[in-house]
Amino acid sequence: MIEKDRIIRATGAKAPMRLVVIDLTRAANEMASRLGAKSYPAKLLAETAIASLFLSNSLKFRGTISTFFKFSGDISQIQADSTPEGLVRATISHNELVNMNQAEPSLLPKNFEVIKTNEEGKRIQQSIIDAVQGTVSQNLASYLLQSEQVRSAVGIEAKVNEEDPSKLDYAIGFMVEAYPDLSEKDLAIMEQVVLTLPELNSFYKDGNYDLDGLLDLLRGPYEIEIIKEQNPVFFCPCTEERILKSLATLPERDLKDLASETKPLEIICDFCRTAYHISPEKFKELLTEKKGIN
Ligand SMILES: [Zn+2]
Repeated sequence: MIEKDRIIRATGAKAPMRLVVIDLTRAANEMASRLGAKSYPAKLLAETAIASLFLSNSLKFRGTISTFFKFSGDISQIQADSTPEGLVRATISHNELVNMNQAEPSLLPKNFEVIKTNEEGKRIQQSIIDAVQGTVSQNLASYLLQSEQVRSAVGIEAKVNEEDPSKLDYAIGFMVEAYPDLSEKDLAIMEQVVLTLPELNSFYKDGNYDLDGLLDLLRGPYEIEIIKEQNPVFFCPCTEERILKSLATLPERDLKDLASETKPLEIICDFCRTAYHISPEKFKELLTEKKGIN
């Protein structure tokens, strides 16, 4: 029984390519249960989180990748944030989740957007592509080709449990990236390897996903070297301090209104659903600080 989620990153020993496989089942179930997402929305949430981790895994600096999969229909967007250390969180609007039929949402993919921020939270790159009418993996591959000129094969799959739609049996993925100097012959062989890969659900047995088995087939005839193995985890960096910092940017008249309330203001984090209660006294302090600055 494997108890932790894993990301395994490998490169071809001789062939210039990178392989990444991920099992995010536990973190994906935690995210879905915190948000109350089930069925298809839970699947999309997990798959978008995996796409974000694939992108942050190759980030050359400490920072965050935010991936936005935007739709028209019952869901406006899914956002997933992740870091090169394997911290991940994702969200769908709570109101949308409550108001839709989660088993059969009506959705039309619109855009796939990636924002890279550095450690200080400064935005350093933003790319947006028109979504292809397909899965998260097809959109990630299309993004990699269009925005980063990387040829890749991507497979991402989260499977909803048949008896209990609030559970995911697994949430996994693979990505093969061809470096620019991969030969046409090797490229053709790898294409064949990916095309003839067994169905991703065939690696799921007795409640466990055989990630090593998937990697072993994915490498085809090539020798690989494992570069890094990580245990990704759900993590939301929200704190009362951060919330107060963003509230401090409200206009003075809004702060005055909130300071004159009799009850605390409840603010619920979109990602982890932690509830914060900000008292009128706190707003008075924010108001005093703001006046001090002006
Ligand atoms: Zn949070």
